[in-house]
Formats: sequence, structure tokens, C-alpha cells
Amino acid sequence: MIKVDLISPMRCSKCRRPAILFQRYSGLHLCREHFLADLEAKAKRDIRVRRWVRPGDTVAVALSGGKDSTALLHFLHSLLSRRRDVQVLAITVDEGISGYRDPTEAKRIAEGLGVPHVTASFREHYGTTIDEIVAKKGDALSCSYCGVLRRHLLNVAAREQHATRLALGFNLDDEAQSVLMNVLRGDSGRLLRAPGPREGLVPRIKPFLHVPEREVALYAYLVSGRIDTGRCPYSHNALRAGVRRMLNGYAWDHPGTRHALVNLGEELSERGAAREGFVHTCERCGEPCSDVCRSCQILSEVGHGT
Ligand code: SF4
Ligand code: ZN
Repeated sequence: MIKVDLISPMRCSKCRRPAILFQRYSGLHLCREHFLADLEAKAKRDIRVRRWVRPGDTVAVALSGGKDSTALLHFLHSLLSRRRDVQVLAITVDEGISGYRDPTEAKRIAEGLGVPHVTASFREHYGTTIDEIVAKKGDALSCSYCGVLRRHLLNVAAREQHATRLALGFNLDDEAQSVLMNVLRGDSGRLLRAPGPREGLVPRIKPFLHVPEREVALYAYLVSGRIDTGRCPYSHNALRAGVRRMLNGYAWDHPGTRHALVNLGEELSERGAAREGFVHTCERCGEPCSDVCRSCQILSEVGHGT
């Protein structure tokens, strides 16, 4: 006799319990337990294969308080908190965007897990904020200014905390978008840029590199109860927003596209690694870069440079 399931047509492909997720790229339906196991296995695999965490490491997690970084902190805390040879801490960058970033929320998340937390602010480090930069320069380039200055400050703060790894909550969608943006800009320099290590740069790790954004969001919700509600007032200006729309539309019909782009990005950066020579340090601030670093260029454009 054929048994017909009338309660839920979507059953986990592994255990037949009710599914909470369908992965178009794998064709699998997954229940809560098998979804969590699948996501964590992907992140652990990248950490293991790439030797992203080694004995003696201090892992600084860049914690904005949004879903990606909150999910990452929960994941790394659950993976590493019982290890005596690895430390985890969280760093929050306060860019100074009124009504959007509240560093006390990130602090609360870290402290709830018993993870040490520090805040680094644009105001204290650069003497200005994204709101002030936008007031001076307009908001067309807000995200590129914000991104450059935040990367710079995260590196400074991680080094000050003696971190040996800087963990970023970038997911598969973010990475695929970055590769496509570089292609659309014709930016071969970035596509061929080697991933490191570079002197003065705390090595970055991205454990969710192969996890799609919506799965990270679901994971964040399941492990922390968080959903992202706030939206940066300048996010409409990001070139990324247009690329995301385009990629989402295309990937709907071709579900392997994001993975293909991330693989392409990695292959090109490996080829670039073979060509890379030495690393410069900024003649103004001493951070690793080419010539005068982009952060110092931005700060002098907005009247805060040396
Ligand atoms: Fe910064 Fe742009 Fe992100 Fe807002 S959307 S936090 S301005 S990078
Ligand atoms: Zn299952």
C-alpha cells in the first residue's frame, strides 16, 4: 500500500521529519537538526581545510550585531569555547551612523555568551563619523568610504587585542557579489589580489564563505532568536544592492552561480598570489597598503587627514 503523507509534503531528505528549508543548489529538504548540522559542517570544513584556527590563536570576531556576525559569534563560540588553546573575543566598529548602529547591542550579545568585547569608534580613531563624512561629501560614496575605513579600523583594533585571526561574517552571497562587482568594474587588481598573509594585516577568516545568506539568517534566528530589522540609511547607494538584485534573479534559474563565482574568485586570487611581491605600508599611518592607503586618502578628502 502506498502511504500518502497529507500533513506536510516537505519532509527532510535525510530523516523524514518536517523540513524547514529547501536548498535549491543541492535539491535537499532539511529539518532543523539536519539544517544546523549541514551549515556547521560546511563552516567546520573550511576551517579545517584552510587551517583557519590553530593552537595558540586569538580569534577576534567582527561583531556588528547584525544577523551574519551574530550567527558567526555563536558558531565560533560553540566550536571553540571549550578549547583551552584558543581564545575568542568580539570587536564592534561604531561607524557613527545615527539611528542604525548601536554598539551596546553587540556588547550585550557578546557578554551574553561570556565573550570579551571591545568597541572601536570612527569618532575616537578618525575624529569623524560616516554621518559627518556624508554631510560633507554627499552620500553617493558612503559605502565605499565606510567599507575602507571600517576594514582599516578592524585591523588596527584586532592587532591591538593581539588577535591572530580576524573572523568576518561574510557569506556566500557577499563573496559572490564581491567577485561579480570586481568583474563589472573591470578591476583585475582586486580579482588577482592574494588572500595573504601580509605583514601588519591580521589574517582574515570567513567561516560562512560557502553558506548562502538566507541560511545564515535562518541559523542566526535558530541559535540566537535574531532577525535583522534595522537598515542602514545609506544602503540604497551601494553598488552592491544592484549587483545583489541581478545575481539573485540569475541564481534563481541557475542555483550554482554563487558557488561558481566564489570558486572563480578564489582561483584568480591564487593565481595572483604567485605574482605578488612585497607589501607596502602607508607613508602616513603605517598600515599595510599600496603607497598612501585609501583610508588616509579619504580622511584627507574630508579634511581629517594629516
Ligand atoms: Fe556602511 Fe554602507 Fe554598510 Fe551603511 S550600508 S554600514 S554606509 S557600508
Ligand atoms: Zn532531518
